[in-house]
Amino acid sequence: MKSMKSKFAIQKNRKGMDISMIIVMKPNAKKESIDKIIRIIEEKGLTPHLSAGKEVTIIGVVGDKTKLQDQNLEIAEDVDKIVAVTESYKLANKKFHPEPTIVKVGNALIGGKDLVIMSGPCAVESREQLFETAHAIKKAGAQILRGGAYKPRTSPYAFQGLEEEGLKFMKEAREETGLAVVCEVTSLAAIEAAVKYVDMLQIGARNMQNFYLLKEAGKTGLPVLLKRGLSATIDEWLNAAEYIIAEGNPNVVLCERGIRTFETATRNTLDISAVPVIKSKSHLPIIVDPSHASGVRGYVKPLSRSAIAVGADGLMIETHPNPAIALSDGPQSLTFPQFEELCDELRPLAALMGKKF
Ligand code: PEP
Ligand code: MN
Repeated sequence: MKSMKSKFAIQKNRKGMDISMIIVMKPNAKKESIDKIIRIIEEKGLTPHLSAGKEVTIIGVVGDKTKLQDQNLEIAEDVDKIVAVTESYKLANKKFHPEPTIVKVGNALIGGKDLVIMSGPCAVESREQLFETAHAIKKAGAQILRGGAYKPRTSPYAFQGLEEEGLKFMKEAREETGLAVVCEVTSLAAIEAAVKYVDMLQIGARNMQNFYLLKEAGKTGLPVLLKRGLSATIDEWLNAAEYIIAEGNPNVVLCERGIRTFETATRNTLDISAVPVIKSKSHLPIIVDPSHASGVRGYVKPLSRSAIAVGADGLMIETHPNPAIALSDGPQSLTFPQFEELCDELRPLAALMGKKF
């Protein structure tokens, strides 16, 4: 994870920047060539931002790119190409960072060769419920335990979560099983509590454009699972990710969890195209949540298959020891035998896509 650390350092200095142009150097470009480009940029009163990959160095130009029009940078030594950035998100943009980002959560690496499965109850209800679930999902092959301690419910009268007590159970379950744990945060108070107990923060669909919350989550430096908003476009979603990265935290994982459409047969409509679209526009990993996308247990398996087939880096699947008595999202939660059967069926499909779990 060495390279992630150095990226982190670069990005820390990029707050508030607006990259207008990107200069992609040829593989293994000479240092003199890179220095020369940087000098030209600085002489024009612009700010260069370097992103040094394993082979390719990329120089972002902050400021008015028209000042460089007469410099013929395209034909400067060791320059491969010049790319104009039209999207408002820069740090989340693949143009500026062509190599895929791998996010480390506990021992899990999301965005690489592993298919990372996160599973657990919608809401943490009790220590027993969580521990039983943790052991079952681990046995089936999941790497990350999910569980909501702060539940953003549509009705104010529905179960709102165990809050800090739930977080404590999450931490205990992590110590007992070695699984990494992820929990949704809905306020600054929840973030302040969660950082003491979990490996990853989740920003839920309803808070995807809560920019204050995104910034605060970014400041923690913890990996953030950013769910797509109910009616968010992909551009808005990537801009939300940009808020987190701009705080110096590059550890963002996107989660497609279905969007609002005219269709009512499913709870939401899984936008499966979001996976290849994100892969073409961003370097961030993306996972799929077929549980919230469909709201129906019976659709979780086919949708999981589709997610793997389009190249998702992982899945988030709700499970419960007894979905019939779950305090939230019972109808979409799998029983443990159903979850195990799902994992067993997905394994060869993942292998076909070059991923393992
Ligand atoms: C959840 O993960 O339990 C949840 C509330 O998800 P979403 O924000 O996608 O609705
Ligand atoms: Mn849920």
